[in-house]
Amino acid sequence: MIPTATSPDTGAPVRKTVAVRVHPPAERALRSGHPWLFEDGIRTISHTPRDGDVAAVFDRKGRFLAVGLWDHDGPIRVRVLASGAPETVGAELFRSRIAAAVSLRQPLAHDPATTGIRWVFGESDGLPGVILDGYGPHLVLKVYSAGWGPHLGDLLEAIHDVLHPASVFLLAARNVQQKAAADTPFRTPILLHGVWPDSASGALPFLEHGARFEAHPEVGHKTGFYLDQRDNRKRLRANPGSQVLNAFSYTGGFSVAAALGGASSVLSVDISRAALAQAERHIDLNRAMAPSPALDHQTLVGDAFQILRDLAGAGVKLDTVVVDPPAFAKERRQVDRALLQYARLTSLAVALLRSGGQLVQSSCSARVDPDLFQEVVQDAAHRAGRPLHDVQRTGHPLDHPIRQPESAYLKTVWARVE
Ligand code: SAH
Repeated sequence: MIPTATSPDTGAPVRKTVAVRVHPPAERALRSGHPWLFEDGIRTISHTPRDGDVAAVFDRKGRFLAVGLWDHDGPIRVRVLASGAPETVGAELFRSRIAAAVSLRQPLAHDPATTGIRWVFGESDGLPGVILDGYGPHLVLKVYSAGWGPHLGDLLEAIHDVLHPASVFLLAARNVQQKAAADTPFRTPILLHGVWPDSASGALPFLEHGARFEAHPEVGHKTGFYLDQRDNRKRLRANPGSQVLNAFSYTGGFSVAAALGGASSVLSVDISRAALAQAERHIDLNRAMAPSPALDHQTLVGDAFQILRDLAGAGVKLDTVVVDPPAFAKERRQVDRALLQYARLTSLAVALLRSGGQLVQSSCSARVDPDLFQEVVQDAAHRAGRPLHDVQRTGHPLDHPIRQPESAYLKTVWARVE
């Protein structure tokens, strides 16, 4: 290991750019714009870097390939900030990335009925490992790599310059928090700037196509809400049917959509009691806008597989079943099992549908190919004796752009059963 140089003034370690040379396959990937350099793609490094050191990546002949941030954790060693031509890593680069991301989202930004927006979607917006979600004037910055530690000040400055938020709240992904020493910036959650709007509940209120929601960044998944399902919720709202089951409901995003679309009864099912309590609250926040005066919203806490089976056993029949489970396949070796679980969920859901009823089934596993997912769903319905027709598939909303295959994680199959 090469010793780290220290500053003669302060004694603090000096951050040096680490020069990285890579093997040919990694070279090809980086040339084609791939934003990650994996451990096994590295031939040599100039010295042992620390998390967050700037890495300049070169091919075998010493030609420049990319510049990014070093991270010791996990299989990705360098997250690329710029490839092809060198760039200075700092507030100016971050500002230009955020400005480009914001301009891409103008159609959403101009809609006063939607104030929950993903302003930055990591790799797809040229800021790998960074998510920035806006809930009204409040921002939640979620960091998925310790490589961002030394750059948070610059990032925050850039965020301010472009978005002028009322507050910025920092969250670190679990793996980043776990390795963080007590004195690092990642002992989150931390309020980086501003004043938290409602210190009693920690809730950030926002609108989605006029529906009222609250994000709870401290206790919630992602940054507190699944903004990625916004378009699908709108689509459901246009045609929900009368009796709707929302399985894996989380805080009831699809339940509210069904209610606002005119459903008369909605059942939200989730294994998390806290998520269902928030689903109740979301329904209450929107009840006055729901077309059905006697809207009946029920919740069931428990395993959705078991609950769907029990409901079918009890002879329940519905117009729409939404199935939006967590990512079953986080790694490649889990894909086969995930496909089996998707198939099981399809057969359980179609058993609950009336003739002509609607199945809405999502997968958010990036490792599961969209075509294969659709095939598995259609095949499972067919084998259950309820073949699907009018099959359609939806993908990502505008604020979750796709730049590399890995970022295209969300797919949803919409269909009618016979
Ligand atoms: N559709 C939601 C997001 C779903 S996230 C929305 O639009 O906001 C997945 C949810 O599945 C989480 O709330 C999690 O608590 C729940 N979950 C995970 N495993 C479960 C299981 N076996 N049964 C029921 N819910 C489960």
